[in-house]
Amino acid sequence: RREAAERHAREPAETADGVAVKVLVNIDDPAILETLDPAICDGVGLTRTEFLFKDGSPDEAAQLDFYRRLIAWADGRAVTIRTLDAGGDKPIPGITIDGEANPFLGVRGVRLSLARPDVFRTQLRALARAAADAPVPLKVMVPMVTVPAELEAARAILAEEVARLEGEGIPCAMPILGTMIEVPAAALTAADFDAGFYSIGSNDLVQYVTASARDNSAVAALADPLNPAVLELIARTVAAGAAGGVEVSLCGDMASSPRLAGTLLKAGLRVFSAAPAEVAAVKAAIREARTGADG
Ligand code: PEP
Ligand code: MG
Repeated sequence: RREAAERHAREPAETADGVAVKVLVNIDDPAILETLDPAICDGVGLTRTEFLFKDGSPDEAAQLDFYRRLIAWADGRAVTIRTLDAGGDKPIPGITIDGEANPFLGVRGVRLSLARPDVFRTQLRALARAAADAPVPLKVMVPMVTVPAELEAARAILAEEVARLEGEGIPCAMPILGTMIEVPAAALTAADFDAGFYSIGSNDLVQYVTASARDNSAVAALADPLNPAVLELIARTVAAGAAGGVEVSLCGDMASSPRLAGTLLKAGLRVFSAAPAEVAAVKAAIREARTGADG
């Protein structure tokens, strides 16, 4: 079955009832770019930039180098890069706050980026420079956003850095700025965000909706992506996107699970972003699924 799916990995995904679905890929390790064929996917839906920070904060040039390499690899396909999502399950020495009582509910993701403007500005400058020579507009997304003011704060800092680069005569462009939807408050108020796109982070969304830590196996049964409350928030986010003309993708592990493809399609999802090893199997599951309630 897997071999059969792999044979069709480079073909686009269309459901059994003829609906086109995009399948993007998640990148969390630069080494994969050496071996992964971009033709299996419709672009990059999530780049976890935390790996860049494993030996301390990389400078602007080092980040720019990787972002350019990723854009070149994608060969004209859309690329989405997430700003640093440190904290919670992704502690980064020197950046995350030691000894925080409840790190998953504390200063992580965009909260930490806004608390560390030095780190954030360097990353945004590198992203704005990478956007300058991207063949399709670069998408940048912000993790752990809870309220619109956080996205606006990120946008303001990005715009300041773009203006500063322009003043320095350095080629740059304003990327499309989107928000992750992984906090229930954001899922319930998605329409209030002035976002270029929404990307549902189901791993954290499931954790926060079910109050079950994603790294605690004792509560794994409760951290159920099929909990109706989770599916309701996904459907609402998709509906908010449709109403506002904003693209909605899902980049959490749910999108990498072939057995969940039919459920996500019925929730209205049309853009999946999956782990590289699962792209072919997810496409195969989409081809067998129907989008209608009778399927
Ligand atoms: C998520 O939360 O679903 C997600 C895609 O991001 P991460 O797993 O990196 O937190
Ligand atoms: Mg997350």
